[in-house]
Amino acid sequence: MFERLIGNAFIKSALRRLIEGGRVPNSMLFTGIDGIGKKQFAIELARAFVCKEPNGVEPCEMCSACKRAGVFNVPKPDDRDAYKRVVISEHLDIGMVMPFGRNILVDAIRHLEAEANFRPFEGRARLFIVDNADRMNDAAANALLKTLEEPAPSTHIVLITSRPDALLPTIMSRCQQLRFSPASEHDIEHYLTEHKGYHQHDARLAAKFALGSIGRAVGLDLNDIKTRRERMFEVLENAVFRGDLAAQLKVSEAIADGKEKDSFEMSLDLLQALINDVWNISVGGDATRLKNPDLEDRLALIAGGSDRSQLAAWNSEIENLRGSLDVNINRRIATDALFTTMTAGNTV
Ligand SMILES: [Zn+2]
Repeated sequence: MFERLIGNAFIKSALRRLIEGGRVPNSMLFTGIDGIGKKQFAIELARAFVCKEPNGVEPCEMCSACKRAGVFNVPKPDDRDAYKRVVISEHLDIGMVMPFGRNILVDAIRHLEAEANFRPFEGRARLFIVDNADRMNDAAANALLKTLEEPAPSTHIVLITSRPDALLPTIMSRCQQLRFSPASEHDIEHYLTEHKGYHQHDARLAAKFALGSIGRAVGLDLNDIKTRRERMFEVLENAVFRGDLAAQLKVSEAIADGKEKDSFEMSLDLLQALINDVWNISVGGDATRLKNPDLEDRLALIAGGSDRSQLAAWNSEIENLRGSLDVNINRRIATDALFTTMTAGNTV
């Protein structure tokens, strides 16, 4: 169980122990950044309660109950009335409260209160998820509090949020909290190749910019990232072989004058990853660990034309630039300076 979910081995074993001991709390709070599988863990926990042919505490993943458990008919975003109710999955013992726009409607929490009192229809327990629980206003939170105070023994409620600080302390104190960690780049890369059909090169690139979130990894525009990376590759190639400063300053203008700080930092990340790869190739490092394995041949050419102290110096220049971003420097001037330093030694 939970094997299909990535990372968070500690939480997997904690949940397993709780299920084995029959001590799963009635009120739980799953916290951690968006897109790391908190909801999938909650649904898997629900399967443990409803599976028809469990192997010990492990849900089989195959029976009709396991299959129906994760299927939610999510209402259309403008169907306000539908968000006044718990969205019950195709398994009647599993439901989810979802926000309507920015708010969880108090009526949905009242419906949850009523549902929480029913005995299970076909499973051994019922489980309800409150998704984006930080979107409860005070009225909704207070209504939920009542339910959390008098839990039916066979009902479990799992609140999910990436912003636990936005919850009322009284809600926090009634829930057992499980903190989810961001996934490692390695875990994300593995997940994308094994479950999403990504080529390994793409999976590695996506993992690098996923910030520990599977959801973010899957949503990344890889073509856009590759276009940016190509531009940074040309900066590096130019610095090593051509010394064409005018071309470098043009790129600086394109990446640094944009409005988005994130995409600027992404360009820096890409340049730094390329420099690190060139370094690794030049010291004869393990090629399987390259950040940009698809560019290996082209990076090897650059490695042949650059020296390591130069690469190390560029790397620390980028680190300096990154550090000074917090103090609101002029990105354009700083990037011009970086590219000029990189290119100066070879200016023709
Ligand atoms: Zn099953």
